[in-house]
Amino acid sequence: MIIPFVDLKLQYEQLRLSIDNAIQSVINETAFISGKYAKQFEEEFANYLGVKHVISCANGTDSLELLLQAYGIGNGDEVIVPANSWISTSECITTVGANVVFVDSKPDTYTIDTNLIEAKITAKTKAIIPVHLYGCPADMDEIMVISKKHNLIVIEDCAQAHGAKYKGKNVGTIGHASSFSFYPGKNLGAYGDAGGMATNDEHIATKVRMMANHGRLGKHDHGIEGRNSRLDGIQAAVLSVKLPHLEAWTEARIRNANLYNRYLVEAGLQLPFTPNGSRHVYHLYVIKVNNREVVQQTLKSKGIETGIHYPIALPLLKAYSHLGYSSKDFPVAGGQMNQLLSLPMYAELTEEQIEYICSNVKMAINL
Ligand SMILES: *Cc1c(COP(=O)(O)O)cnc(C)c1O
Repeated sequence: MIIPFVDLKLQYEQLRLSIDNAIQSVINETAFISGKYAKQFEEEFANYLGVKHVISCANGTDSLELLLQAYGIGNGDEVIVPANSWISTSECITTVGANVVFVDSKPDTYTIDTNLIEAKITAKTKAIIPVHLYGCPADMDEIMVISKKHNLIVIEDCAQAHGAKYKGKNVGTIGHASSFSFYPGKNLGAYGDAGGMATNDEHIATKVRMMANHGRLGKHDHGIEGRNSRLDGIQAAVLSVKLPHLEAWTEARIRNANLYNRYLVEAGLQLPFTPNGSRHVYHLYVIKVNNREVVQQTLKSKGIETGIHYPIALPLLKAYSHLGYSSKDFPVAGGQMNQLLSLPMYAELTEEQIEYICSNVKMAINL
């Protein structure tokens, strides 16, 4: 059986007609940049999240950068991020001129360990960027308490967590602002790069909207210097077609995760953990195995493609070698990086495929 790690074509096939029509409309109306389709998607996504403002932009890295800048974070400031994430989470801090401060992850959910945050706060700390990694909400109550106590801005990185909930609230509505990626492989994905920001703060919403569009709101009305980070009409139209299906796809991911859990429970592996009161949306289904190399190769020989998220913890990447960290500085993120293995995860997986994957995982962990 051949099982790819992700298969975006399966989803397209279900929606082919509406997607093709939506793209054709954008072309017919030459509504290529921002405009009507972007505005419509912003409203729909704001509605979905239950937040006052969604501001679209070019990708989920720009959205983090734009928010940091809008909050006035720059030279000399420090921003706290988890040691296990995609590099965008830390990259944006350096881009705006501030300094990255890494905090280790929790061994069960792999999200930021809130017990370790306060030790890293200095007079220069301005913000925390928690990541709802793999689709699992970070411990937002603890993070918001710390942020109030130390007067810090919280920007949620929701790139992997569209539709995830923390104690009944949608992630992306708990911090001061939040950042979304609509990269094709994300839980809600466009057909190219796309991103967005969400906030209830009107002042910040207006500011990022200006900054993402050359510092203007109306034509030629450049109140400040900004940049070009706008959503394409085609991407917006695709997202509007897909958004009404997000709940069903999320439910299917959760069902698939439960099937994985059921078939793998007796294997004695560490499976994904969902904290009480959270809705994990399984952007990735990540297990921990001791002989990862062997398991990955064995699965590959059986037609099963897997992934590694991430092979190197952020502080240990070459890009941060100037900070001089070793894996001892981040015992969890640094220690687990040779064990994590992401199994195929998408709405369209069948129980038969999951059963096949699991029986091969159970065989391979004993090799
Ligand atoms: C994908 C991702 C981003 C950035 O998204 P792009 O749209 O690819 O720029 C940011 N943070 C995390 C955790 C991500 O997974």
